[in-house]
Amino acid sequence: MTVKAYGAYAADKPLESLDIERRAPGPHDVQIDIAYCGVCHSDLHTVRSEWGGTIYPCVPGHEIVGHVSAVGEHVTNFKVGDTVGVGCLVDSCQHCASCAEGLEQFCENGFTGTYNGVTPDAPGHTLGGYSQRITVSDKFVLKITHAEEQLAAVAPLLCAGITTWSPLRHWNAGPGKKVGIVGIGGLGHMGVKLAHALGAHTVAFTTSEGKRQDALDLGADEVIVSRNADEMAAHAGTFDFILNTVAASHDLDAYTALLKRDGTLCLVGVPEHPHPSPDVSALIFKRKAIAGSLIGGIAETQEMLDFCAANGIVSEIEMIQVQAIDEAYDRMQRSDVKYRFVIDNASLAA
Ligand code: NAP
Ligand code: ZN
Repeated sequence: MTVKAYGAYAADKPLESLDIERRAPGPHDVQIDIAYCGVCHSDLHTVRSEWGGTIYPCVPGHEIVGHVSAVGEHVTNFKVGDTVGVGCLVDSCQHCASCAEGLEQFCENGFTGTYNGVTPDAPGHTLGGYSQRITVSDKFVLKITHAEEQLAAVAPLLCAGITTWSPLRHWNAGPGKKVGIVGIGGLGHMGVKLAHALGAHTVAFTTSEGKRQDALDLGADEVIVSRNADEMAAHAGTFDFILNTVAASHDLDAYTALLKRDGTLCLVGVPEHPHPSPDVSALIFKRKAIAGSLIGGIAETQEMLDFCAANGIVSEIEMIQVQAIDEAYDRMQRSDVKYRFVIDNASLAA
């Protein structure tokens, strides 16, 4: 079936309206009418081919929420009308050791991303949530139990939420732990909310003086403007865990210096250009670690959504019409969004 979408034909071209094909639901598929789609910095990196390897036309979007409009004959856990979400994954091998542990994002045979992933469906690569409808295997569909009027603000949980939740849980953010969140953008503002809700002493690091009060309102116990060396030095050697969401290359030593013995700096930002090499001695002398983390598995994503619904947590959003997407990318590039753009997919019909 043909549906309207928004995407780019080349790295240096603006996004534009295009028609795409969606497969009819197979026996295990769920067809979703997309209501809203969040705008992740990964969308921008991919559309502009900042990481290389983008397949065009590129229709981004992996923070998808909407309603089930059809199900395949073997689907038992979803029915027409259900409110659901789809994040960064739409398929994985389902039989490797990582998939068996519910860590589909680390599928040893390669997961299929919601966009820019290889698929048998036309045109041979996946097309994401900047579209009216999507058909997804039921194993990769999430249940949403937030109130219907919160739906647009739930969309960013499908990437920004899970990408911060998974490392916070893995490194045991909670009571008695001092946790830093670096970069108060789409991911970072969710990281602050979630670390706070998990009971950690939460410290927000921002380059933007104008986000100081906001970070406190989001749940930070303290805010550090990272350009201020004195403010940084006051926290040397005190953090159990620091989650770094910054989308640009920068000096990591400024953060490893703040870790306690055995502390971890976890990177989730994927900058276009590499970070300068970290100072190894700063790691060796206090057995500190620099780690990475990739989104989260399906079961863990459901756990995060349920936790957020139970604790009244959603994203702070600015709703846009899809026609404003290039301007939204430019503003995101300048860190000028509080704190996530979300597309009203009804605007695709315009
Ligand atoms: P975003 O909304 O643009 O937020 C990034 C934040 O980083 C900005 O708001 C800004 O916060 C800070 N920042 C930007 N440029 C900076 C610079 N030059 N120096 C220091 N700080 C800077 O982006 P996002 O959607 O949260 O995504 C962040 C990164 O994570 C992207 O690279 C994205 O591709 C990646 N990502 C990774 C995963 C994963 O699974 N690992 C998943 C999703 C996204 P302040 O104004 O507070 O300084
Ligand atoms: Zn994302």
